[in-house]
Amino acid sequence: MKDYKCGKCGTTFTMEQYHNLRTVTPKRRYERVEGRIVRKDDVDLDSFYLCRCGYIFGKQNWRLQNKMRIGDPPELEIKVSTIFTEANLGTDERPLWFETRIREVKCKYRKRHLTKKEAIDGHNELVILIKEGHYLITPQKEGPPLVSIIEKPVYDKAAAVRAEVEEP
Ligand SMILES: [Zn+2]
Repeated sequence: MKDYKCGKCGTTFTMEQYHNLRTVTPKRRYERVEGRIVRKDDVDLDSFYLCRCGYIFGKQNWRLQNKMRIGDPPELEIKVSTIFTEANLGTDERPLWFETRIREVKCKYRKRHLTKKEAIDGHNELVILIKEGHYLITPQKEGPPLVSIIEKPVYDKAAAVRAEVEEP
């Protein structure tokens, strides 16, 4: 199973191969507080898997992001985000390495893509849908409101042609 993919050289790894890769850990950082040197606690000290080509998983993945403001006042700020996930969200036959989501609010919208080109197209389509107002904002009892995307029906040209042919 192609479970992981390097964002630089494109090598794919099984789960086992991935977990056997070398890891890197960010250096600890120190600061001076009241004359004493103390370790900074806010530094993320998780280690990251390192591809043989030098790519660091979880740190360098390709992403597209658009900040947008939606709704009547009070306006909401959302982020349309498409990332190279590094993990296969599809299957071996049809691996999906990219995902488009809406961040900063509650939103169930997810679109997964195979190639970078599909990911860019999918991202731009969603940005246009939102610009054209194809969304609903539903306030929640607690926390941020729920944003739903109203997707346009896909016009199936082939089916339409068939329908015409079948007409008497
Ligand atoms: Zn690599």
